[in-house]
Amino acid sequence: MSFEIPKTQKGVIFYEAGGKLEYKDLPVPTPKPNEILINVKYSGVCHTDLHAYKGDWADHVPLKLPLIGGHEGAGVVVAMGASVKGWKIGDLAGIKWLNGSCMNCEYCELGNESNCKHADLSGYTHDGSFQQYATADAVQAAKIPKGTDLAEVAPILCAGVTVYKALKTAELIAGDWVAISGAAGGLGSLATQYAKAMGYRVVGIDGGEGKKELFEKCGGEYFIDYTKEKDIPAAVVKATNGGAHGVINVSVSEKAISASTEYVRANGTVVLVGMPSGAKCISDVFDQVSKSFKVAGSYVGNRADTRQALDFFARGLVRSPITIEPLSDLPEIYQKMADNKLLGRVVVDTSK
Ligand code: NAD
Ligand code: ZN
Repeated sequence: MSFEIPKTQKGVIFYEAGGKLEYKDLPVPTPKPNEILINVKYSGVCHTDLHAYKGDWADHVPLKLPLIGGHEGAGVVVAMGASVKGWKIGDLAGIKWLNGSCMNCEYCELGNESNCKHADLSGYTHDGSFQQYATADAVQAAKIPKGTDLAEVAPILCAGVTVYKALKTAELIAGDWVAISGAAGGLGSLATQYAKAMGYRVVGIDGGEGKKELFEKCGGEYFIDYTKEKDIPAAVVKATNGGAHGVINVSVSEKAISASTEYVRANGTVVLVGMPSGAKCISDVFDQVSKSFKVAGSYVGNRADTRQALDFFARGLVRSPITIEPLSDLPEIYQKMADNKLLGRVVVDTSK
C-alpha cells in the first residue's frame, strides 16, 4: 500500500501565545528516522490545548513557537522513517500528548515515560494534530485496531488514557465512591464511564446546561451542580455517606481542587489531573493527618495504560461523548471551552 503525500495541507497555527489562530496552508512535515507520518482524520480538542495556546504553563515548560496544537489525533500511517519498526503503511495510529521520550532515563526505564525530563509533547513542544499530516515517534504512537471509528477513538488518546490512569492512582475497590470534579467535560465524561466500568459508584460535580443529563447518560449516580450548591463538601459527604474514597479533579478550578481535600474520605486519595494556571492545592494539615488521606498527581499514562484504555473503548465499555466540528472553527471551540459551555468532547474534522 502507498499513499500520495501532498506538499501542503491545511492546519491551524499560532505565532505567539494568545495570538491569532490561523487556519491556512502549511507544509507537510517530513518524518525523522524514528517517526511515522500520520494522515490525521480527526483530533479531539483538550483543555490542555487551550492552556498551551494561552501560554498558561510557559513558565514551567517553554512553548514551541510557532505552534500547531492538538494531541488527540487519529489517522492513517502514510510514511515512515528508515529506523521505524512495528508499523506498516495503512495502519491506524494515534497521536498522544507524549509524542516521544528518551527511553533511557530512570523514569522511562520503569515505564513512567510521561515524567521523562526529555519528553517531547504533541501540540506543545512538537507540532500536533490540528493539521492533516503530523509526525509521531514510532515507539510512543498509539496502535489503533483496524476498523475503529477514528472520530470516536480520538478522545481516548488523551482524555481516556488520563482518566483511566488517574482512577488507577486512586487505588479504589469495586463498590467505592469516586467523586469527579468537572464530571461533564471532556475528561470527566470519560472518567465517569471508566469509573463505572471499573465497578465504582460515581458522584459528579459540574454546572451549566445539559451537564447533569450527560453525567447520568455516562452512568453517574449522583450529580451536584456547583453553580447552585453552596456547600459542595457537605453535599458530597452526604451523598457518599462519609466522603468519597477517591476524587478525580478534572475541573479547571483552583477552588474546586482545594475543596476536594474537604470531602475525601479518611484514608482516601485526592488525584490532581486538571492544571489551572498557577493553581495551588490547599489542604488543612490537621485534617490531612487525622484523616490520613493522600494527595497524588497523575499525568497522562504510559503505553500499557494506553493499550488498556483503548481496550475498554474497543469492548464498548466506554463510549466517546463527542460533537464533530470543522478544524477551521477552532477559535470558537476554544471560546466555548473557556466559558465551560462544552458538553463532553469536541472532535475536529481536519478535512474542513
Ligand atoms: P473541559 O473544559 O472539557 O472540562 C472541564 C469541566 O469542568 C467543564 O465541564 C466545566 O463545566 C467543569 N468545571 C468548571 N468549573 C468547575 C467547578 N468549580 N467545579 C466543578 N466543575 C467545574 O476540560 P478537559 O479537556 O476535560 O480538561 C480538564 C483539565 O485537565 C485541564 O486543566 C487539562 O489541561 C487537564 N488535563 C490534564 C491531564 C493530565 O495528564 N494530568 C491530561 C489531560 C488534560
Ligand atoms: Zn489532553
